[in-house]
Formats: sequence, structure tokens, C-alpha cells
Amino acid sequence: MKVYIIGIGLIGGSIALDIKSNYDNAEIFGIDTNDNHLEEALKLGIIDSKATLKEIINADLVIVSVPVDIGLVILPNVLDSIGEETLVIDVGSTKFPICETVTNHSKRRNFMATHPIAGTEFSGPSAAIEGLFSGKTNIICEVEKTTFKLQEKGMEIFKKLGMRIRYMDPKSHDKHIAYVSHLSHISSFMLGKTVVEKEKDERDIFDMAGSGFESTVRLAKSSPAMWTPIFKQNKKHVLKSLEEYISNLTLFKSLLENENYEAVFNEMQNTNRIKEILKEKK
Ligand code: NAP
Repeated sequence: MKVYIIGIGLIGGSIALDIKSNYDNAEIFGIDTNDNHLEEALKLGIIDSKATLKEIINADLVIVSVPVDIGLVILPNVLDSIGEETLVIDVGSTKFPICETVTNHSKRRNFMATHPIAGTEFSGPSAAIEGLFSGKTNIICEVEKTTFKLQEKGMEIFKKLGMRIRYMDPKSHDKHIAYVSHLSHISSFMLGKTVVEKEKDERDIFDMAGSGFESTVRLAKSSPAMWTPIFKQNKKHVLKSLEEYISNLTLFKSLLENENYEAVFNEMQNTNRIKEILKEKK
């Protein structure tokens, strides 16, 4: 099986590692504009060879794992260049714009729109992890638009990677993901900013930073090059989630100002429900 990974970073690299360990016959080709990443991926054994877009006519499987703005440009060209039996999977964190971009493409049936809900705050091939997707959810959008034979091929791969499948329409995906992923990143970035700005005046502040701060601010280490186009593409839903979040912050502030500690207690106690919700999910 000839597998071409376009964008050999955290997600593309992790998929490459899992495909290698599950398919003895897999040959992995890396395509990336960053030559250092290609060299690193070769050295780490993530890919077998470097390749270019011109070669994807030979592919059985193409994984598009580039930032979401780049995906919109690359995917139609990829579909133009592949054979009849090739499956093309994209893993971008937004789904409506990419599905819309290829909706009328003559090879739409070769394409599967997915979002694996797995990752870390790190980027590039050195961040790739074997087993990253095990036990994680993969959201597949508009599955009915992918030809049945290629759906089966995609499902077999996701099963081998240990993923649970959820089907969703692209608009619902983008709306829900704004709350559970995009808002969390903005909240972490702005918490990090608030503390970094304070640290300029009070240099001791990081000596006091405990594990609570570290875990809450973890996502603020994420790549701005990856996240800016995500926020741009999902602006409508991200703004709505931000408005609701800001309103909750403003309410909490006013409860404190008014010394309404019973309400402060209740706000936190009601939110403790998150323990049960997340436990049920597991
Ligand atoms: P990453 O580690 O930064 O990898 C992306 C790779 O694509 C980098 O090597 C990048 O090079 C390269 N690239 C940029 N433009 C390119 C182009 N025109 N042609 C070929 N390669 C190009 O990013 P990632 O975290 O793997 O994310 C990849 C995709 O997965 C994104 O669409 C993201 O939304 C999605 N996703 C991410 C996560 C996560 O937690 N990180 C989870 C699920 C899905 P440069 O570094 O030089 O730009």
C-alpha cells in the first residue's frame, strides 16, 4: 500500500507511525514544504521516502494533514491528480469549509472528511506519537458522499488505529468543536497572556506556578500558524462561544464584587457536574 502524507507534522507523522506498525506492506511517502521536517521524518523512521505532489498518481491512500487554510488550496489539486481507486483523507480541525470546497469536485467520492479528536500542544514530526489515536474519537462528516468501497477502506484503517467513529454534518461539527476545542485554546492563550504580562512586573510569579496553572495553560504552547486559520474559518461559532464565556466571567466578577459568596459557591458547585460528564464519556 503506497501512502502519501501531505504535511508530515504531529498528526500526519502519528498516522504514518500507526499505519507502519499495522500494515506490513505500507510504504510511506512524505510531502512537506518544510524540508527540515522531511529530513527529520526520514531520520525518525516516520517516512520511507520524500516525495512531491506530482507523484500522488501512484498513491493508494493520501492523508492531508496541513493547516486548514492550506488544506482548502491543496485538496482540489490532490483530487485532480489521483487515480480512480485512491482514498484521500483530510484531518483538519474545521470541516464545513473543506467539505464545501470540494462539494462539486468530480472526485468527491474519493474523499473522506475527518477530524481525529487527538493531539498535543506540540508540532512537527518530532511531536509524532505512535498510538496517539488509540481509544480516541474520529468525527467523519458527509460519509455518504464517499464511495462505499473507499468508506470501508477508511474504516478499516481507523479501526486498526483503535479509533471510535462518530458521524456528524460539517456545520454541527464546527459549531460543537468551537466550544470543546477552539474556546479552550483561546481561554488558555489569554490566561497565559495575563500571567506573562504580570510576570514582567513581578518576576517571582512563575516560582509560585503549580500544576493547576501548568495544566490550564498547556494549550497556550500550541502553534499560532495552525490555530489562526482555524479561528478564521470558524469565526462565527468561535465568537458565539466567546460571548457566552465572557458573560460567565463577567457574572463571576460581579458576584465577587458584590460579596455574594453563596452564589460564587453555587456557580462552582453546579460546574462540578463536569466530573460526572467526563467520567461517563470515558
Ligand atoms: P504540524 O505539526 O504543524 O504539521 C503540519 C505540517 O504541514 C508542517 O510540517 C508544515 O510545515 C507543513 N505544511 C505547511 N504548509 C504546507 C504545504 N503547503 N504543503 C505541505 N506541507 C505543508 O500540524 P498538526 O498539528 O499535525 O496539524 C495538521 C492538521 O491536523 C491541521 O489541519 C490541524 O487542524 C489538524 N489537527 C490537529 C490536531 C492537534 O492537536 N494538533 C488535532 C486534530 C487535527 P511548517 O511547519 O514549515 O509550516
